Amino acid sequence: MAQRRTKIVATLGPASSSDAVIEQLILAGMDVARLNFSHGTAHDHRERVRQLRALAQKHGRYIAIMGDLQGPKIRIARFCNKAITLKAGEPFTLSNAHPPQQGDERIVGIDYPSLVHDCAPGDELLLDDGKVILRVQSVDAQAVHTVVEQGGPLSDNKGINRRGGGISADSLTDKDHADITTMAEIGVDYVAVSFPRYGRDIHQARKLVREAGSQAWIIAKIERAEAVADDEALDDLIHASDGVMVARGDLGVEVGDARLAGIQKRIILHARTHNKLVITATQMMESMVHSPVPTRAEVSDVANAVLDYTDAVMLSAESASGQYPVEAVAAMARICVGAEQEPGTTRSQHRVGEVFGRCDETIALSAMYAANHFPGVKAIISLTESGHTPLIMSRIRSGVPIYCYTRHAATQRRVALFRGVYAMPFDPAAMPAAQLGNLALAALKDKKLIQPGDWAILTRGRVLDSDIGTDSMTLIQLD
Ligand code: PGA
Ligand code: MN
Repeated sequence: MAQRRTKIVATLGPASSSDAVIEQLILAGMDVARLNFSHGTAHDHRERVRQLRALAQKHGRYIAIMGDLQGPKIRIARFCNKAITLKAGEPFTLSNAHPPQQGDERIVGIDYPSLVHDCAPGDELLLDDGKVILRVQSVDAQAVHTVVEQGGPLSDNKGINRRGGGISADSLTDKDHADITTMAEIGVDYVAVSFPRYGRDIHQARKLVREAGSQAWIIAKIERAEAVADDEALDDLIHASDGVMVARGDLGVEVGDARLAGIQKRIILHARTHNKLVITATQMMESMVHSPVPTRAEVSDVANAVLDYTDAVMLSAESASGQYPVEAVAAMARICVGAEQEPGTTRSQHRVGEVFGRCDETIALSAMYAANHFPGVKAIISLTESGHTPLIMSRIRSGVPIYCYTRHAATQRRVALFRGVYAMPFDPAAMPAAQLGNLALAALKDKKLIQPGDWAILTRGRVLDSDIGTDSMTLIQLD
């Protein structure tokens, strides 16, 4: 089977916490394991990281770990009997004053006092990702009074969104602060920030992550209507982060599901143009929570994200709590490889006619231009410390694999999220400069990734630890 370029993020949860299942997820193609800090304890997450690192090492795989912060998701409290059923046309109240365990068919508590300031009569509130819809009738100092517009079952602690966005909760909660400390301790490679509104929310998260002693890269989840209201708002978040997630669960509730597909394409394009990563997430294979095979619509959804040139596709409930976590990863892997056969995915018009801003960017993009136009080139070898050069390279559509040669374990794991990029442990400091090219080629030949007569493009910074970084590019042929 062809080498898969699009990466797979799989959320770990109760259905994927045993060694046996984690091992099968790795073998089926999981590249990044997501730990959802909305669920589970610090102990659970720490244990999963330990299992995952050991199993990845056993199989010689480089797998990144993403810690996903809960963020200010506003939730209802609990019901006396765990769940109720709401009927259209009936009144229903969300109250700051109601005892948190004692909701019923008429009233339930909320844990977010400012909701009364953030909504007004006529607003639509969506519960449980839009399965239940309430229309606000009136608001007083303690409660929001609504009428049920779309009824259905409603259970403890379900989330609340407002159609059109505009709920003002701060992006980083006290729980997020504590979870960042845990994430730093357990050594996650990425931290995903939930519900950021502005670039400054991401800067603040990055500051906290660094203060906690972690060098993790920061992913901004795009899931508020305000974040996609105009290009300026979106680009502000993209600039501040290392990558973004098209968080279709909450975003779809806030902007309406019909707008999602177009917005997804816009987010992917903007992220790539700014040299940032992008993950497409939520309900990609939802029916596989209960079924061993995906629907045609789901296959098409994953394939379309691949054709849009996302770095990664993501599984949530499918791998965390579903009945077929391994089958879901395997199906995704198969669909990615299939969609990547489409010729358009390897041709690029990326930033043709634009000026480049930096030396390393210029080398990275030139290398890809050369690789895409000289059919003899079978591999790109990027000698790198941080992975920044292969990141820029992989923003361009190409069928040529990009090998990230690095001595740093953190970089080897990090690039697991980059489309078309594969880690190769390599320490140039330990080699005579004149032999670097030959030794780099030999590593690919040993793994049968290139053959005699094939060309490779090698990029590197000639001065180690300089600010310029990658400043040279060489074409080399394997004898
Ligand atoms: P969540 O984020 O799964 O943490 O809610 C993703 C989304 O909203 O799509
Ligand atoms: Mn979300």
